[in-house]
Amino acid sequence: MGARTCFFGAITGAKIARVVLESVQSFMSRVSMSQSILVTGGCGFIGSAVLHDLVANTDLQVVNVDKMTYAANAESVAALAGDPRYSFEKYDICDPAALRSIFKRHDPSFVMHLAAESHVDRSIDGPDAFVQTNVNGTFCLLEATREHLSGLSDERRDAFRFLHVSTDEVYGSLGPEGAFHETTPYSPRSPYSATKAASDHLVRAWGETYDLPVLISNCSNNYGPRQFPEKLIPLMILKALAGEQLPVYGDGQNVRDWLFVEDHAVALREILTRGIPGESYNVGGRAERRNIDLVEALCRVLDETQPRADGRSYGELITFVRDRPGHDLRYAMNIEKITHALDWAPQVTFEEGLARTVGWYLDNEAWWRPILQRGESTERLGLGAVQVGR
Ligand code: NAD
Repeated sequence: MGARTCFFGAITGAKIARVVLESVQSFMSRVSMSQSILVTGGCGFIGSAVLHDLVANTDLQVVNVDKMTYAANAESVAALAGDPRYSFEKYDICDPAALRSIFKRHDPSFVMHLAAESHVDRSIDGPDAFVQTNVNGTFCLLEATREHLSGLSDERRDAFRFLHVSTDEVYGSLGPEGAFHETTPYSPRSPYSATKAASDHLVRAWGETYDLPVLISNCSNNYGPRQFPEKLIPLMILKALAGEQLPVYGDGQNVRDWLFVEDHAVALREILTRGIPGESYNVGGRAERRNIDLVEALCRVLDETQPRADGRSYGELITFVRDRPGHDLRYAMNIEKITHALDWAPQVTFEEGLARTVGWYLDNEAWWRPILQRGESTERLGLGAVQVGR
């Protein structure tokens, strides 16, 4: 009897241990399965690259919150539409009630904030939308996050992260030498960069005052697939393909650092998961180019991949036009911090990135043709026309 009890007990013990182990594993997998991230602005250029990266490289439930402005494109995320880990919420981040409801329904563990008005030239003609979305929208999102965190357990609160995606333009303009560090004082010079600087300050203040676990990334000019064709590289590609003049602002001497968007998406994932709350990280492509050199390089890629019918170079279409008011001369990024702290560095060279970008626009006319047909994207903006109260 004793031996049987002992045998029975041994089986029961092993079984209980297995059941306990299985239920712990099942709980753990449910916990990690159910963790979700809110990404704002996911139908935009960088946001859509981020969504593709997160769905491919994490187990997170990915929630895209986007108001669908002129810059959004549903086609950019069409490939994710059927994925059970992806969902879409068409809402304005300036709507506190909508945000409250989204936080309640999705119970996120992370927020990655990219929604913004993003085009400098538009900010010169109509700054009000920039103040509204970039400043007030960020404020609304911070408040919704604060309310959400107040209902979380200490453990979940400790693990929560809010990553605000910002720009190198908050640092102002450089002369021919030097680079922006994370400690460079802010000196924004356009309505766009001023609103981004304001939003960075709000994020930092909410971190200090309300103990929100915030991170900020400041990145240089992105380029790559799915960028709205008002920005320099896609604008030049599409104008060249149409045989139109390629308008280079001023004398073309302005220098930007170029970051391939897929490299950026990886950097943001690293900052979100491994960055230290309260810190900011510069992200750059180690690819400084004068605008004129960039456009000439683009023309050479097009000459090879899509030669003009008359055999002439696309470079002959380059023309210099009136400069942007307050055009910052040079941006350059010191990215030592992210390379050392998070072991991230850009992987795509500028030449490779440019070739991939040109290839993408050549292969994806169905993405950009409808935008051109709307007729708003390639016209010259931002010459300082006064349009008060728009
Ligand atoms: P984008 O203009 O391509 O996309 C912005 C997205 O935000 C759009 O899908 C738009 O519909 C959405 N949006 C705008 N207002 C909204 C609102 N009120 N509520 C909800 N959604 C709204 O921008 P992008 O180039 O992908 O830039 C993304 C972020 O990265 C921005 O915060 C921008 O300031 C920053 N950034 C961009 C660059 C760059 O080179 N593109 C460089 C540095 C920083």
